[in-house]
Amino acid sequence: MRVLVKGGTIVTAADTYVADVLVVDEKVQAIGQNLQAEAERVIDAKGKYVLPGAIDVHTHLDMPFGGTVSADDFLTGTRAAAMGGTTAVVDFAIQSKGKSLRDAFDTWQEKARGKACVDYGLHVAITDLPDPVLAEMPELVEAGVSSFKLFLAYKGSLMVDDATFFKALRKARESGALISFHGENGDVIDVLVKQMVAAGQVTPRYHALSRPPEAEAEATARAIALAEMAEAPIYVVHLSAALALDKVAAARDRGLPVYAETCPQYLLKSIEDYDEPEFGGAKYVCSPPLRDKANWPRLWSGLNTGHLQTVATDHCPFNFKGQKDMGRDNFAAIPNGVPGIETRLYLMYTAGVLGGKIGLNKMVDLIATTPAKLFGLYPDKGTVAVGADADLVVFDPAVEHTITASALHQNVDYTPYEGFKAKGAVAAVLSRGKVVAEGGKFVGQVGAGKYIVRKRFSA
Ligand SMILES: [Zn+2]
Repeated sequence: MRVLVKGGTIVTAADTYVADVLVVDEKVQAIGQNLQAEAERVIDAKGKYVLPGAIDVHTHLDMPFGGTVSADDFLTGTRAAAMGGTTAVVDFAIQSKGKSLRDAFDTWQEKARGKACVDYGLHVAITDLPDPVLAEMPELVEAGVSSFKLFLAYKGSLMVDDATFFKALRKARESGALISFHGENGDVIDVLVKQMVAAGQVTPRYHALSRPPEAEAEATARAIALAEMAEAPIYVVHLSAALALDKVAAARDRGLPVYAETCPQYLLKSIEDYDEPEFGGAKYVCSPPLRDKANWPRLWSGLNTGHLQTVATDHCPFNFKGQKDMGRDNFAAIPNGVPGIETRLYLMYTAGVLGGKIGLNKMVDLIATTPAKLFGLYPDKGTVAVGADADLVVFDPAVEHTITASALHQNVDYTPYEGFKAKGAVAAVLSRGKVVAEGGKFVGQVGAGKYIVRKRFSA
């Protein structure tokens, strides 16, 4: 199958130029001016941007949490991703305590089987690391898991101690993997949550107050110090607070291989959202929590200066009715997470690029190119280039639309961005050469998304 994308403005992390793109089967075969090629399908991209398919390296599909399960599975989640211009996700397979890493990997492969609508990779989250499990890490890297995650928060469930963290860092370094971590001090948070609940402080705002930015800064600094001792690279997921960013910036300025991600919710939503009436604040309960607005300009500036390198979504959807309301009488029982797999490109383009916060090439770098490089997907994915996978987004900057839950494809009954006036819409999406989204409809094939054997980490 040959597809010719004609006359669009190609945008990569480095360049912006008008050219045609010829796709043959799954790959980009040629890029050039006025390509004279026969094609079964011609897409007119004049006046539109042609972007590399975005990559979301932080999703939680079909994930058990707090007695319930995230509302998008691999089918609905990756379909929504495609609709929003994301053509690859890297989801977290969570190790159950007492079980092997392989078991987590197999469990998540089973969740994805026959369902993925775009390509996907897996990180494995380590919750328990006796020696036989530690010894498994290189095998997992062999199987394409070139990154692991550990939690410094969620005491009593996911949280690990410093010894576990340090061992994982050393083993990852040996095996060519990148360790990422959830940076919040779980011990302190545990004390604060118990105190607040005992005092009857149970509304959603207390979720944020029980998880102060200092707890994030401390855990971030500690993880960076452990990585330095282990001489290992490290990646901070969902950085939310300027205080934590300062720790990352200081480490990077010393030349340490420290990388950090933030998410649209930390750039656009704030602690004030927890006061939405009728328990509406529960919609924004995620960890780390939303912060004071004073953090916003610092995070945008971190993206611009390179102290923050990626924007992922931490898509972890729970319905407002039936899931979030488990915590109506106690914020600690509200499942943690917000949906966002489908809206990232719209938010980053409208608020970021048109809002004068970041350039267009920078946006592509943050949501596609650098994630691809850090997580072993580059150069097959993450850019528009001859020989790369034909994962392409034709983006029409002229279309305006309002983000509303009912128009999105995520399987969740709300969006944190309800009413957001977006400029620019996805006109067409190609996943390995096949058109999967077009004119607001999913036209791909359920199950056509392939597991990606990711390459080892290299700085
Ligand atoms: Zn997460």
